[in-house]
Amino acid sequence: MKYSAFSIFTNALSGHKNWQPAWRNPDPKPAYDIIIVGGGGHGLATAYYLAKEFELKNIAVLEKGWLGSGNIGRNTTIIRSNYMLPGNNPFYELSMKLWEGLEQDFNFNAMVSQRGVLNLYHTDPQRDAFARRGNAMRIDGVDAELLDRDAVREMYPHFDYDNARFPIRGGLLQRRGGTVRHDAVAWGYARGSDMRGVDIIQNCEVKSIRTEQGRVVGVETSRGFIVCKKLGLAAAGHSSEVAAMAGIKLPIESHVLQAFVSEGLKPFIDGVVTFGAGHFYVSQSDKGGLVFGGDLDGYNSYARRGNLPMVEHVVEAGVAMIPALSRIRLLRSWGGIMDMSMDGSPIIDKTSVHGIYLNAGWCYGGFKATPASGFCFAHLIAKDEPQHTATAYRLDRFRRGYMLDEKGQGATPNLH
Ligand SMILES: Cc1cc2nc3c(=O)[nH]c(=O)nc-3n(C[C@H](O)[C@H](O)[C@H](O)COP(=O)(O)OP(=O)(O)OC[C@H]3O[C@@H](n4cnc5c(N)ncnc54)[C@H](O)[C@@H]3O)c2cc1C
Repeated sequence: MKYSAFSIFTNALSGHKNWQPAWRNPDPKPAYDIIIVGGGGHGLATAYYLAKEFELKNIAVLEKGWLGSGNIGRNTTIIRSNYMLPGNNPFYELSMKLWEGLEQDFNFNAMVSQRGVLNLYHTDPQRDAFARRGNAMRIDGVDAELLDRDAVREMYPHFDYDNARFPIRGGLLQRRGGTVRHDAVAWGYARGSDMRGVDIIQNCEVKSIRTEQGRVVGVETSRGFIVCKKLGLAAAGHSSEVAAMAGIKLPIESHVLQAFVSEGLKPFIDGVVTFGAGHFYVSQSDKGGLVFGGDLDGYNSYARRGNLPMVEHVVEAGVAMIPALSRIRLLRSWGGIMDMSMDGSPIIDKTSVHGIYLNAGWCYGGFKATPASGFCFAHLIAKDEPQHTATAYRLDRFRRGYMLDEKGQGATPNLH
C-alpha cells in the first residue's frame, strides 16, 4: 500500500478501516538464498537494498526480539558526514545523500531533519584541528563552516561563553547534519523490504551457525533450522557472539552507551550541539525534550542499563555548557550495547567462512551510517566485492596495521 495524500483521503472516506499492516508476519521457510541476522537498522537496510537495487529474491531477516528493540531504537538520532579520513568521508557522505532522498525512496515519513550539527571548540589547538577537519570535508565536497564565537553566540545565546575552564571560542558547523526519527527508519526499511518479498521474522533468535567444509549451510534458530546459501551478520552489539557461532573471533568489545531525555521544554536548541571539552551532546526533540548523551560507561557489558557515575559525568559536562540545564528535570535514560571496534571504525567484509559476510564495529556512530551500510553490505553480498566507498572497512586491517583512527580511539581497551 503506497502512502500518499490521496491514500489518506480515500482511507478517511472508509473510516480508516482499510489500512494494511506495514509488513507481514510470516513463518520462516525451510530455506532462503540469503539470511540476514539482526533486524536493526543495518540488517533491514541491507535486505531493502538487496531486494530493491540488486533485485534479489528469497531473502529473510531474522530478529531475536522485535523490530526497533536494539540500537536502532535506542540511539540519539544524529546524522552527519563530518569525517576527515579518506577511508571514511566518501562513505558517510554517501549515507548523507541517501538520507536526503530516503523518505521519497521508501515512501515513509522518517522525519529527516537537517537542522545542523555544531561541534564547539574551546582552545586554539582544538580550533586548528576543527579547521583541518572542515578543510578535509570541503575538499571531498562535503559542507563545513568554521564559526567564531560571535556567530555561535548568535545561534545559541544561552550557552556559557565565559566559563572559566571551558570558554566557548567557536564551532565547526555542518548544516546538512541533523536528526532522523530512528524507529521510523527501521519501520520504513522493514515496510520497503516486505513489499519486495523479504520475510522479516521477529522473535527468531539465531542460536548457532552450521558450516560444512568451510562454507555456511544454515542457521539453527529458536524457530527451527533454516538453510541458506549466504549469511549476512548485522547483529550490532552482539556481533562478537554471533560471529563466534561460526568460529570467527572479532576485534570488537561490547560496551554500554547511555542516552537521556529531559522533560518537555519550549524550543531553545534548534540544532545538534556537541561540547568540545567533555562528554556531552544535545538536541531537542519535536516533543520538546532535550535528548542528550555522553561517553561509554567504561567497562565491557551486555547489560542494557547504565550506571550513575556516568549520568553524573554527562550532566556535569552539560551544565558546564548550558548552566540553565541545572533547573531541568531528567525524565528517563536507557542504555544500548555498542560493538566497539579497536580503531573506532566499522567492518563491512567477507569472513574466513565462505558465504558469511560481516557488518559490525559501528561503535557509537552507526545510526548515521544506516543507509550507506545497508547499501554497501548489500553490494558486497550480491556481487562478492566491496562497494567503492567501503573498501577501507576490511576485517584484516587490524592484522595488516591499516587502522582507520578517525578519532584516535575505539574501545580503548588499554584504559579499562
Ligand atoms: C544510547 C545510544 C546513542 C547513540 N546515538 C547515536 C547517534 O546519535 N548517531 C549515530 O550515528 N549512532 C548512534 N548510536 C549508535 C547506533 O545506534 C548503532 O551503531 C546502530 O544502531 C547499530 O546498528 P543496528 O541499527 O543494526 O543495531 P541494532 O538495532 O542493535 O540491530 C541489531 C539486531 O540484532 C539482533 N540480534 C542480536 N543477536 C541476534 C541473534 N543471535 N539472532 C537474531 N537477532 C539477533 C538484535 O536483537 C538487534 O535488534 C547510538 C547508540 C546508543 C546505544
